[in-house]
Amino acid sequence: MSDGRAARTIAATNGVAQDTAFGAVIAPIHLSTTYKFPAFEKPGPYDYSRLGNPTRDQLADTIAKLEGGARAVMVASGMAALDLALSSLRPGDLLVAPHDCYGGTHRLLSLRSARGHYRVAFIDQGDDAALAAALAEGPKVVLIETPSNPLMRVVDIRRVTSLAKAAGALTVVDNTFLSPALQQPLALGADLVVHSTTKFLNGHSDVIGGAVIAADAALGEDLAAWANTIGVTGSPLDAYLTLRGVRTLFVRVERQQRTAAALAAFLEAHPAVARVHYPGLPSDPGHALAKTQQTGFGAMISFACVGGREAVRCIVNTLQVFTLAESLGGVESLIAHPPTMTHAAMDPEARTKAGITDGLLRLSIGLEAEEDLLADLSQALEAAGRL
Ligand SMILES: *Cc1c(COP(=O)(O)O)cnc(C)c1O
Repeated sequence: MSDGRAARTIAATNGVAQDTAFGAVIAPIHLSTTYKFPAFEKPGPYDYSRLGNPTRDQLADTIAKLEGGARAVMVASGMAALDLALSSLRPGDLLVAPHDCYGGTHRLLSLRSARGHYRVAFIDQGDDAALAAALAEGPKVVLIETPSNPLMRVVDIRRVTSLAKAAGALTVVDNTFLSPALQQPLALGADLVVHSTTKFLNGHSDVIGGAVIAADAALGEDLAAWANTIGVTGSPLDAYLTLRGVRTLFVRVERQQRTAAALAAFLEAHPAVARVHYPGLPSDPGHALAKTQQTGFGAMISFACVGGREAVRCIVNTLQVFTLAESLGGVESLIAHPPTMTHAAMDPEARTKAGITDGLLRLSIGLEAEEDLLADLSQALEAAGRL
């Protein structure tokens, strides 16, 4: 961390009280698209906002420090961040990706592969034989998503990055589900971290954005130059709002995961629930591994309810405090049905292979009182149990 300050101090105050024009404590937002040249043939630090913008740079600098990276590139969405992070792949190159990744990621990789931009192998990265076989084919990039969306499978970042490195591949980790407050993949050996800043980093469900963070400065420069070339850099207003969200990242995530742990324990004991996926539960297959690479278990839970789609319909229609909506990481609690919502773009066969069944529900835990969320889930599960 820069200047030896704790990550939470960086999140709350990086770049505060630096304004030289008026002494503004909170940095002003710079919406100007263009910047005056101080003299002929002498550009200033900024010339055009697609390439560089002080507000966006302030956010990038903060996120790079939180992830322990050399450089962050802020882009227009999480999908743009993933696409940018994979932009070094050439026709014929192989990408190894998780079989149970976010539905939009699965669509991006499948369509790029269908267009011949690169080849993709979707595998269960917890299956040693499948991983070894994929690495033996000489992939250029290995993409990890941990915990995975929506089944919360935990992938061993240290192990996969070191095997990938030995095979000559770059490792990219999608850290959206935990945020740098709970997991720092670069310190575990990854080359690039990707975020949908739409989720926990912004945290208020009012900005679509993404980030790519590079461990290596030269690779970060290349990605920044390519983001400018293809025009995917994020807007200053989005950067301003996202930095405002980052200020409270640690307190939000800590509180949200405390409530999530209580709700996961409640769900695990409930007769209308067949299975809970939450690495914080000692019974979860990812629990021991999560403890070695995460500093917390996060605020995302998924569970399979008894009774399949009819029970799902009853639960989502009965809930009052949880809102039925896609996305996650905001201050309001959301419930989603992955097969018909976040993962609808995945073909049914790939969904089944990944273990995303009809009775699966995903929760993003917000900042409401724990007792309100518990009471809400309890009455909805009771109603489903009476079906
Ligand atoms: C939401 C999400 C994305 C995509 O991000 P957008 O900002 O919606 O483009 C990528 N990965 C994960 C894990 C996500 O949850």
